[in-house]
Amino acid sequence: MRPDHEVIVVGAGFSGLCVGVHLRRKGVRDFVILDAAPGVGGVWRHNTYPGVAVDIPSATYCYSFEPNPGWTRSFAPGAEVRAYAEHCADKYRLRPHLRLETEVRRAVFDEDADVWHVHTSRGVLTARFLVCAVGPLDQPKNPDIPGLDDFAGTIVHTARWDHGHDLTGERVAVIGTGASGLQVIPEIAGRAARLDVYQRTPIWVLPKVDFPIPRAVRTAFRLLPPVQRLVRFVTTAISEAVMVLGIVHYSKVPFLVRATEAVCRAHLRRQVPDRTLRRKLTPRYGFGCKRPSFSNRYFRTFTRNDVELVTDPIERITAHGIVTADGRERTIDTLVLATGFKILELGAMPPFPVEGLDGVELGAHWDTERYHNYEGLSVPQAPNLWLMNGPYTVTGASWFSIIEAGSTHAVRCIVEARRRRATRIVVRQTPHDDFTADMRRRMKGTILAQPSCARSNSYYFDRHGDSPYVRPQSGLHVWHRARTFDLDDYAYTR
Ligand SMILES: Cc1cc2nc3c(=O)[nH]c(=O)nc-3n(C[C@H](O)[C@H](O)[C@H](O)COP(=O)(O)OP(=O)(O)OC[C@H]3O[C@@H](n4cnc5c(N)ncnc54)[C@H](O)[C@@H]3O)c2cc1C
Repeated sequence: MRPDHEVIVVGAGFSGLCVGVHLRRKGVRDFVILDAAPGVGGVWRHNTYPGVAVDIPSATYCYSFEPNPGWTRSFAPGAEVRAYAEHCADKYRLRPHLRLETEVRRAVFDEDADVWHVHTSRGVLTARFLVCAVGPLDQPKNPDIPGLDDFAGTIVHTARWDHGHDLTGERVAVIGTGASGLQVIPEIAGRAARLDVYQRTPIWVLPKVDFPIPRAVRTAFRLLPPVQRLVRFVTTAISEAVMVLGIVHYSKVPFLVRATEAVCRAHLRRQVPDRTLRRKLTPRYGFGCKRPSFSNRYFRTFTRNDVELVTDPIERITAHGIVTADGRERTIDTLVLATGFKILELGAMPPFPVEGLDGVELGAHWDTERYHNYEGLSVPQAPNLWLMNGPYTVTGASWFSIIEAGSTHAVRCIVEARRRRATRIVVRQTPHDDFTADMRRRMKGTILAQPSCARSNSYYFDRHGDSPYVRPQSGLHVWHRARTFDLDDYAYTR
């Protein structure tokens, strides 16, 4: 059977685009990139709430092969990141490969023909190889609070912001104080007549060295790319060191984490004079158990008279407001859900049913057997498939380290399968088991193994108590592995 395409890539965010760039570089031209959305950019197309921006230095937040001299701030706003994705799609001639507004609903491996049948909203497509490049922060999660559906006012999720709805003069509640809440809350305060912020778990917040990048510097970056590469190298090295030393090698250097926490506490003290309020805003888990962030405006927002930080647990939502455990109801017009995404759970990882060998559905299999894979990308149950952003992938200075390593790995495999004229490539059981065991062993030395993480309500953990979100190795190591892993860790057949 001749499939419709050699490769199908699902997702036109930065991961899917990067796979496309790597495929073209290796001379693979028969591929399509499917996306449910009408354009490229992934999370940066979907997350347009006021204040959305990167929370690592913009110099680091880009492909290594395409530094962006156009960032206007040291922490780029979301609209610029989306424009950068559009630019990459054009520059790397990916547009002809895009099939937009095409949602993938199911993928089934045909064991006789060694092809994937990809069921989409526009019909079934077949491909020899399938790369699922859907990021983990794609499916908005609503809180599991009784009465949410009874609310008579407007509900907006930060990941699907309604720009037609004006919050000016309204009574607004925000549920959630994670990375998105931290960015949107200062933007709503002052515009709304009243703002109630419902916090379950406080977030560690560092001061943000956020400044406009002068035009002259941007011009210099454009004219002298090596200068920009040097800046990228420095910001990346710093971000990588913080991630690797603070989280991955926590047990060897716990004092670094304590020092970072001290910086956060001092930042909070400078912005919030009231001791009771400060106590409410101080996390009771270690820095790194949960995604921390940067802001110079977040803490200060709670000192406003028209903003209230509510830490009593929410009991239920009524038609007109929110009732907390103390029995008090605060009435509101609009409810903003800054409650994040479905990540390590059935239906989200993978984001659609994936049926591999012997009809094994990967999501259900992972849900019962715990997450496992090889190099964060492949499993013995699903030949010819690489799942980027899956379990054991998040590490390094920015998502781009993960994306580039994943693309390198998947495309190396595809090229090798082609070279050997194989119709099936599947990871062998032993290297897969060794990798998974190594990840679980290394996890014990990370900050995520600290007992205080149990108080963090962190999406880094799954329902088994495992923390497979993170890959407990440095970004540099992952970069190296993607280029050097033994291609015979896979079995090839025709
Ligand atoms: C608000 C926000 C801020 C962030 N800030 C940072 C940061 O500062 N630094 C950092 O390193 N990371 C950050 N991230 C993480 C971010 O997810 C990654 O940096 C990166 O953009 C992920 O790209 P991706 O292509 O892997 O996934 P995504 O961007 O999620 O793209 C996946 C694509 O797949 C499509 N898709 C999903 N399901 C289907 C389906 N069934 N069929 C077809 N298409 C489908 C989606 O429409 C989407 O376009 C942030 C994330 C968010 C949400």
